[in-house]
Amino acid sequence: MEGTDALSRVVVVGAGFGGLSVAARLAARGHRVEVFEQGPEVGGKLGWFSRDGFSFDTGPSLLTLPAVQRDLFLKTGAPIEEVLDVVPLDPVAHYRFGDGTELDLPGGGLPAVAAALDDALGAGTGAQWTAFQRRAARIWDVAREPFLESALEGPRTLVRLARSTSDVRTVAPWASLRGLGRTYLQDPRLRTLLDRYATYSGSDPAKAPAALATVPFVEQAFGAWYVRGGLHRLAQAVADRAVENGARIRTGTPVARVLEAGGRASGLRLQDGTEVAADVVVSAVDAARLYRDLLPRPRLQPKRRLRSSSGFVLLLALDGRTPGLRHHTVLFPPDYDAEFADLAAGRPVADPTVYVSAPDDPALRPDEHSEAWFVLVNAPVHDPAGGTDWRDAGLVERYAATVLETMARRGLDVRDRVRWSEVRTPADLEHLTGSDGGAIYGTASNGARSAFLRPANRSPVPGLFLVGGSSHPGGGLPLVGLSARIVTDLVGGAD
Ligand SMILES: Cc1cc2nc3c(=O)[nH]c(=O)nc-3n(C[C@H](O)[C@H](O)[C@H](O)COP(=O)(O)OP(=O)(O)OC[C@H]3O[C@@H](n4cnc5c(N)ncnc54)[C@H](O)[C@@H]3O)c2cc1C
Repeated sequence: MEGTDALSRVVVVGAGFGGLSVAARLAARGHRVEVFEQGPEVGGKLGWFSRDGFSFDTGPSLLTLPAVQRDLFLKTGAPIEEVLDVVPLDPVAHYRFGDGTELDLPGGGLPAVAAALDDALGAGTGAQWTAFQRRAARIWDVAREPFLESALEGPRTLVRLARSTSDVRTVAPWASLRGLGRTYLQDPRLRTLLDRYATYSGSDPAKAPAALATVPFVEQAFGAWYVRGGLHRLAQAVADRAVENGARIRTGTPVARVLEAGGRASGLRLQDGTEVAADVVVSAVDAARLYRDLLPRPRLQPKRRLRSSSGFVLLLALDGRTPGLRHHTVLFPPDYDAEFADLAAGRPVADPTVYVSAPDDPALRPDEHSEAWFVLVNAPVHDPAGGTDWRDAGLVERYAATVLETMARRGLDVRDRVRWSEVRTPADLEHLTGSDGGAIYGTASNGARSAFLRPANRSPVPGLFLVGGSSHPGGGLPLVGLSARIVTDLVGGAD
């Protein structure tokens, strides 16, 4: 523990889900907490867009490992059920593979998934997937406490993780997710299904560590969830919880610098020049940005080539209803490898996997004769110098049309139903949330050691901590929530 035994004055930079979560937890422990957010609203990537009665989550559309969020609400006042309606999804998603096979992936646990696979992909595929998930369960048991729920502390983390040689063999730190999958999964569609889970952290399955097997395990063993009214309500509820515990949140207030004095973090300078003194500074912004732009001396800047991928988003306000539409639909291309090759080369994916999130939720549509669709394809980061320039309006228009044509080719043709649409590019994401190039997950989990190379929660500057999706243990709401818990423990004190 950093060991602030008394109450501390804590300042948090950024009111995304990471900043809000750590603010609520630290405030509940009695610290004096103030949060500074550059944007007009809280939430960051957990964003929201409304127009003409249509509403959309612009970021997360799938909540996994809700235990992390339940823990946050319990520790800060009252159970999550008192403020949010968190519902399990069943089916979790409808998949259409490149060969035309259709699969409804059920909620309700691993046995139900195995039965659905046997039905849709053929006898024996359920057993292959179950064998893989058993291995993933063992990886989860080994890695959860010493790695995901603990601060990254160099050799000490490795020692904790490697309690025995059999634990090391289980996690297989030398293997890629795809490599591990191939030893269990013979059916090419199962391999495609597994590959997709690497993209949950913006990574390439051939390079991502085998430990990412925990991603499908967590989703299928503990369920996939939706927050009625939209996932963005989670951000507002955590913000409310922070304020109820005494935190102050100031939107429209960009931070220009983290200040240091006497060799430790001493506060912030806001863009308007105001200086705010503090005992503890928590950075909840993109780690690359913190190290490059906000510290008086740039340090330890993560390598740019390690950035995770971004996303190209279409928000579609549609006339009419789609018979049989699922909450989530995934339309795979015939050649999934080509997608990862395009991303690695920094170019828009020519024939992308298309993900559609279309909750059947009256709060998102103006009437019963319309639908609000969030459509996402993986995209390279905004990189005008060496990759794709997502400010090129012609490219954006052509690519939006490509996505709609791709959907039509794969059985979801909504082109004559679009009342209006809104595009969010990686450049927009960079502008709106300050993430480097619009990378969704900070550095990518590409490479066996990648998990240990993520920026640690404790910075080299005493009194400065990092929370959120670009630091340990990683991106996505569950891991961001865990990072807030880790940082709360590192700050310690009060209670
Ligand atoms: C399209 C998309 C789909 C996703 N889908 C899922 C999903 O289905 N499930 C899931 O679990 N996760 C998903 N994610 C990932 C998830 O949204 C993120 O991991 C998480 O929200 C990151 O939270 P954060 O607090 O770390 O960062 P952010 O949300 O980026 O918050 C950083 C905040 O800091 C602010 N800021 C930046 N610079 C400054 C400054 N100088 N001064 C003051 N404020 C500043 C920004 O405005 C922002 O509000 C998705 C993300 C995207 C973009």
